[in-house]
Amino acid sequence: MRRLALLAFLAAPGLLACQRGVPADEAVASITEADFLHKVGIIAHDSMMGRYNPSPGLTMTAEWIAEEFEKYGLEPGGDDGSFIQAYKVRELAMDFEGSSAEFAGGPSLEFGTDVYPITASAGGASGPVALIVGNLADAQDLPPEQLSGKHLVIVPSASAQTSGRRRIRFPRGLTNVQPASVIMVDQSSDEAWAEAVDRSRNRTQRLLPWNDGAGGGPAMLSIREGVLGSVLADHGIQLSSLMARGGGAVAVVDVPSLELTVNTATQELDGFDMPNTVAILEGSDPTLKNEYIVYSGHMDHVAPTTPNEAGDSIRNGADDDASGTIAVVELAEAFSMMAERPKRSMVFLAVSGEESGLWGSRFYAENPGVAPGELVANLNADMISRNAPDSIVVIGKEHSDLGETLNRVNAEHPELNLTASDDIWPDQNFYRRSDHFNFARRGVPVLFFFCGIHEDYHGVDDEVEKMDITKATNVTKLMFHLGLELGNAAEKPQWDPASYEEIVDMGG
Ligand SMILES: [Zn+2]
Repeated sequence: MRRLALLAFLAAPGLLACQRGVPADEAVASITEADFLHKVGIIAHDSMMGRYNPSPGLTMTAEWIAEEFEKYGLEPGGDDGSFIQAYKVRELAMDFEGSSAEFAGGPSLEFGTDVYPITASAGGASGPVALIVGNLADAQDLPPEQLSGKHLVIVPSASAQTSGRRRIRFPRGLTNVQPASVIMVDQSSDEAWAEAVDRSRNRTQRLLPWNDGAGGGPAMLSIREGVLGSVLADHGIQLSSLMARGGGAVAVVDVPSLELTVNTATQELDGFDMPNTVAILEGSDPTLKNEYIVYSGHMDHVAPTTPNEAGDSIRNGADDDASGTIAVVELAEAFSMMAERPKRSMVFLAVSGEESGLWGSRFYAENPGVAPGELVANLNADMISRNAPDSIVVIGKEHSDLGETLNRVNAEHPELNLTASDDIWPDQNFYRRSDHFNFARRGVPVLFFFCGIHEDYHGVDDEVEKMDITKATNVTKLMFHLGLELGNAAEKPQWDPASYEEIVDMGG
């Protein structure tokens, strides 16, 4: 039902047929509030279900943007002459039947009955068991040479109530250790244990294109208290008395007579393809057209949540980041109309996977389809339609001459009524929190247009009705003027040398 309703919506005729061969001031005038609102209404519509990763709504959004780009007469920048650049996300699940754990001389442990894996990883290791007692959070300096190669059993204090429901992390005190495995002692009831085993069977590990591992790393297992207790008793150790000792300073109890072999196996699921949508406007200068200015916004958002009192569970992501995505679409339309194209080439990029860890921008930045060094600037818009109506925060101004250029261009456009402010939340580290960072790390100067966090951030009330469309449109126009300036400038943007050293040379 939802899908059909949406297709009917998409088939409705466009508001205006776009004109071609116009001067810059007419091109920028194509960025209208009506157009912005209409387009945002499509991708932030309830039928898109929040465009989460991966979902049919995200795919539909990617394809709708591709159709827009095609309509504007832009060149495809994706795979095989299309506007879609796909990247594969592999998924691994644990293979309980193919996994085993056995103490030398017995017993062997049954996956699903005696132990379950906390993370999906494949590998095998044999070694002695060492018990770690005490409060690991305080143990920054456990000697790696004493612990590496051993199966480390984390003994909780009896009062800690370790059931499978809580989220278990790799213990902080063990970060420098390379153990054979990490084994958590689980005190759950039968019922809670069964639920935890179920969750473990259904848990998957996602492997992104740049992660070639087979889900490696030491196995992390959960073992039932009773099972471990009886094995240790045979080696003269009372688990219950170690647990009764409680937290406090960390102590290591080696059990050299107890050898364990753990082999874990994973099973490859189908995985899924994720889309970026990419269009290119080739530059008009025979040399400078090999330099690319990338406009970006992320089209993905997050999955529905628990319904609120009004029964709304869809997190529409109108501001985050339908606003920045439509800015990119509107910029694509405006630039495509120009009689005189900029000297440099322009890339219009809508990425996916931002909310899951900046996936799509990383994939694009590593696979732009042009030679390394040919991307010369990234202007990223992520949330541009909320908060102060007459100012936009632009993060990264101090790191390259893009900041100065922006200030100059903005001063030339008082009609936009916008202050392009410096980063007013430096302690929040926003420079590293959206897609532009994947470009910056790889040496591309960036600016990040951002209105700031608000009370509806990642909530069901990030709705179209709450957007400041005037502001979003003006920010988009400012991005147009800036991109045009950069596209025609004699020199490409330059890093501040100290920033380059800090951000690029140090690997971000
Ligand atoms: Zn965002």
